[in-house]
Amino acid sequence: MSDKNISAILYSKGDLRLEERDIPTPGKGEVQVSIHSVGICGSDVHYWTHGAIGDFIVKAPMVLGHESSGIVTALGEGVKHLKVGDRVALEPGVPCRACDYCKTGRYNLCPDVEFHATPPYHGTLARLITHAADFCFKLPDHVSFEEGALLEPLSVGIHACKRAGVTVGDNVLICGAGPIGLVNLLTAKAMGAATVCVTDIDEGRLKVAKTLGANHTVLVTSRDAKALASQVKECMDGKIDITIECSGAESSIQLGIFATKSGGVLVLVGLGPAEVKLPIVDAAVREVDIRGIFRYCNTYPTALAMVASGAVNVKPLVTHHFALEKTLDAFETARTGAGGAIKVVIDCFRK
Ligand code: NAD
Ligand code: ZN
Repeated sequence: MSDKNISAILYSKGDLRLEERDIPTPGKGEVQVSIHSVGICGSDVHYWTHGAIGDFIVKAPMVLGHESSGIVTALGEGVKHLKVGDRVALEPGVPCRACDYCKTGRYNLCPDVEFHATPPYHGTLARLITHAADFCFKLPDHVSFEEGALLEPLSVGIHACKRAGVTVGDNVLICGAGPIGLVNLLTAKAMGAATVCVTDIDEGRLKVAKTLGANHTVLVTSRDAKALASQVKECMDGKIDITIECSGAESSIQLGIFATKSGGVLVLVGLGPAEVKLPIVDAAVREVDIRGIFRYCNTYPTALAMVASGAVNVKPLVTHHFALEKTLDAFETARTGAGGAIKVVIDCFRK
């Protein structure tokens, strides 16, 4: 294989190949980026193992990857705020910029958003890609490429905590200690949460949550959501202002309702089964607001400021590195969680 533009291309369920692609030329308003770091997300793994997520079905070969950073290598027409050599983080979803959602700032809800590695759009797991220049964010020298790539999952945490209204002094319950639960933990703490309790079924992940600042952790060993709620409330002195559900498990969403105080907020981040059974009357009569989130909007500047200022440290999330040539090993590690894997990062630059 020559080394023009090696890319990790998913052909169909289970069929991920490293192949040569043409070097893309940036169009108007775009830049060409030499990709440096790409974090593997659960969705990348899911497309690989299942060939689809809900209605998003891989029907044509698709480059995976959407948590990325790199170096600008060419400018398309009209690009003014970046120059060749700039180190950038890439916000992966580029919306239409013209619909009501885009115009009112909630561009994550734009029906025409083109998001890296959501079919039919290619992702960034390649040597070279092109991207909308206004969705590239210049990294200060002291922010690493790896941190730049992690602005993507951090953005999910920022959007969820903002939707939840986390503020100084809050007691927050976070269900699930995967990468998304952990970025919510970091963000909630940075936003002033007084006490954060994290749940998981995996003891290893709870240990990581503790090292990242969780005040309490609860190992989930049953599906009895009411009993779990009592257990969680006990370690939080009875009051949970906000629950951020990051596992998608039915019993965990039930826990979120039972545990959240009357008048509190439950944010659903985890996406599990399309339909679940919920104690909805309990939520209704206690005015527990249930809010969803879909990715994020307007979070990259905040995420970058938080990392650059040291308000959050995302580095401990990265447990493994692989070269682009070892993409299959990287995906296998991310799939199995072998070696305590949390965030697996692929280095795409030519070594
Ligand atoms: P992950 O699979 O690595 O983490 C999920 C964690 O939940 C795991 O550690 C697992 O052990 C734990 N878990 C499973 N059952 C549990 C239970 N009953 N109680 C407590 N914990 C339990 O995934 P991730 O990358 O951290 O993502 C988390 C979820 O967020 C996924 O469902 C993902 O699809 C979703 N997500 C949603 C958005 C969005 O825009 N809404 C964005 C990104 C990710
Ligand atoms: Zn739009």
